[in-house]
Amino acid sequence: MSIDLRSDTVTRPTPAMLDAMVGAQLGDDVLGDDPTVHRLQARVAELLGAEAALFTPSGTMANLLAVRSQCEAGDEIIIHSGGHIVNYETAGFAAIAGVSSRTIESPDGLFEPRDVERLMRPVESHFARSRMVVLENTHNTGGGTVWPMDRLAAVCARAAELGLVRHLDGARLWNACVASGHAPAEFARHFDTVSVCFSKGLGAPVGSALAGPRETIERAHRLRKMLGGSMRQAGLLAAAALHAIEHHFERLRDDHANARLLAEAAAASAGLRCDAGRVRTNIVYFDVDLPGGADGFVRRLADAGVRMLALGGGRVRAVTHLGVDRAGAERAAEAIGRCAAELAG
Ligand SMILES: *Cc1c(COP(=O)(O)O)cnc(C)c1O
Repeated sequence: MSIDLRSDTVTRPTPAMLDAMVGAQLGDDVLGDDPTVHRLQARVAELLGAEAALFTPSGTMANLLAVRSQCEAGDEIIIHSGGHIVNYETAGFAAIAGVSSRTIESPDGLFEPRDVERLMRPVESHFARSRMVVLENTHNTGGGTVWPMDRLAAVCARAAELGLVRHLDGARLWNACVASGHAPAEFARHFDTVSVCFSKGLGAPVGSALAGPRETIERAHRLRKMLGGSMRQAGLLAAAALHAIEHHFERLRDDHANARLLAEAAAASAGLRCDAGRVRTNIVYFDVDLPGGADGFVRRLADAGVRMLALGGGRVRAVTHLGVDRAGAERAAEAIGRCAAELAG
């Protein structure tokens, strides 16, 4: 079997998770009576210290609901240039919410209060209305970066003073919590809304949630229906997410240790460049300076039974998850070194 490190979305439900799904109490969530969905939403709201939460089919939808329920057409969001919302969500914020974006550049996905100040539009009839700031924690394209709490708090405090709504794309907030020792609510309390994914490192097959004030979540609920995202016996999926929260949260630290192992293997390989010291969660990026480039390296790895993603610009991404144990990570680390040596000739 190949070791699949393309993403932490590739996990299959464990036997215990499947048992939880089969045993779930179900109802019709569109009619509002699926008890397992209610239980999941209450649990997520509790974990994030929010008034309410809404189960969604994807993180993309949770983020879109956050934007669409809190911005008007013609508003503008302030976000990092590598942010998921502005790169990997088919510009739904523009197409469906009618919102534009102003972006901040930085190597790690983090920024400062002054960056938000700088991108604020003057309140004047020529300009879009600056309306929302989006932070991503962990930051995917920044390298699985964890926002330091004081910096996150400072950015959010300044954004609030400037009258901006604050949204956290917390697809991997669980990883940020395990890496930093902070509880989800400690990060979440600085935001109006927070999205979280169950189908990344937590290992559920499907699903995300949006949490926030009751009134915002009621708007999001209506919009979810409009977008075709309401699901009937969704308790099947909610049961998997509940199981994932209870059983797969703490084990994310194993994924982080495995990612570090892969990063160190890349850093030690001639022809590969990796700043292993920056890897704190489950995402590893490295650069390939070998004949055939990133594509050639990833093909060679695939032949050796290890799958990673070749990105543009000579970069490769590997993401660890519950489908890859320590022995698998050791095999992948060994394959990185061996394939690099072969290609270097
Ligand atoms: C994966 C991801 C999402 C949501 O993705 P879906 O595939 O729609 O669930 C949102 N934000 C970030 C940072 C992600 O990595």
